[in-house]
Amino acid sequence: MIEQEMDFENRIVSPDYSASQDEAELSLRPKSLDEYIGQEKVKENLRIYITAACQRKESLDHVLLYGPPGLGKTTLAGIIAREMGVNLRVTSGPAIEKQGDLVAILTSLEEGDVLFIDEIHRLSRNVEEILYPAMEDFSLDIIIGKGPSARSIRLDVPHFTLVGATTRSGQLTAPLRDRFGVLMRLELYTPEQLAEIVMRSAGILGIPIDRDGALEIASRSRGTPRIANRLLKRVRDIAQVEFDGKINEKTASAALSRFEIDELGLDDFDRKMLQTIIVNYSGGPVGLDTLAAAIGEESVTIEDVYEPYLMQIGFLTRTARGRCVTKLAYDHLGIQFGTESAQQTMF
Ligand code: ADP
Repeated sequence: MIEQEMDFENRIVSPDYSASQDEAELSLRPKSLDEYIGQEKVKENLRIYITAACQRKESLDHVLLYGPPGLGKTTLAGIIAREMGVNLRVTSGPAIEKQGDLVAILTSLEEGDVLFIDEIHRLSRNVEEILYPAMEDFSLDIIIGKGPSARSIRLDVPHFTLVGATTRSGQLTAPLRDRFGVLMRLELYTPEQLAEIVMRSAGILGIPIDRDGALEIASRSRGTPRIANRLLKRVRDIAQVEFDGKINEKTASAALSRFEIDELGLDDFDRKMLQTIIVNYSGGPVGLDTLAAAIGEESVTIEDVYEPYLMQIGFLTRTARGRCVTKLAYDHLGIQFGTESAQQTMF
């Protein structure tokens, strides 16, 4: 693998947030619940809540969406706004630095609007405090002036729906979490669902692909639509330059091997992490922070980005004493199960 791709930001299978404003990605976003593939339970519930709110001519209750990056949280916020027939305002926790920033956003909303705050767990404490009365009573308590002459005034804001997104609901403070009426967890997608997403995206982008080609890309996309769409575009380039432009199982497989993404979607990062646990810690258990230091990655990235998929495919388990690698992972890496033989295989 080339040097640059070892850098997390450039990792081809990274579901990072930075890509979410990519223009091509915007065109691939489903615009209605019917177009949104998978997450059946979430869709079913949302459909009921949206219909009920529309019938009562009220705004929808505040919604918290949580799950790993790239699973469709921003997309869902857009769909909610569209289905409710209101505007969508998009911002993120780190972008709202001061109380005044949030006041400006809230006072500029129209009745019923959806305000989407991505990475909502990163809101600062004093900004969060402004949000509490806004979410509960649709009002703001603003302090004007300083010292003894300071006084508080109450300002009404339009009824709005806050859609918050976070990688884990546990990262939110309790008072904020309690103010959401609807909490929804997005799950990693199955290869079949991802294949459907790849077929849909290929249709929009005009890329010739057959079902087996889509499934090949899907099964290496770590359960994540954003990665599936990204791999589709990379595979298209290789299919175009080195083959006849059509994506089938053979061309997809050849292209993906080029990126050193194996048939389960693991790349060098995953292999390095699993091998570190096997070699340095006899397969585990190893604490998250120790592991993070050993592989030079942040604990939150390991928890939010690497682990969900490795746990879903049964390669990693989380125990009270730390992370453990399973026999399945040893088999996949071609390392014999058991400490000594692992050491011998590696060195
Ligand atoms: P998140 O906000 O969770 O990081 P996004 O909503 O930005 O994820 O989704 C990333 C991309 O994945 C979107 O551009 C969209 O094209 C695609 N996507 C996500 N969920 C779905 C889905 N259920 N069906 C089809 N495409 C999806």
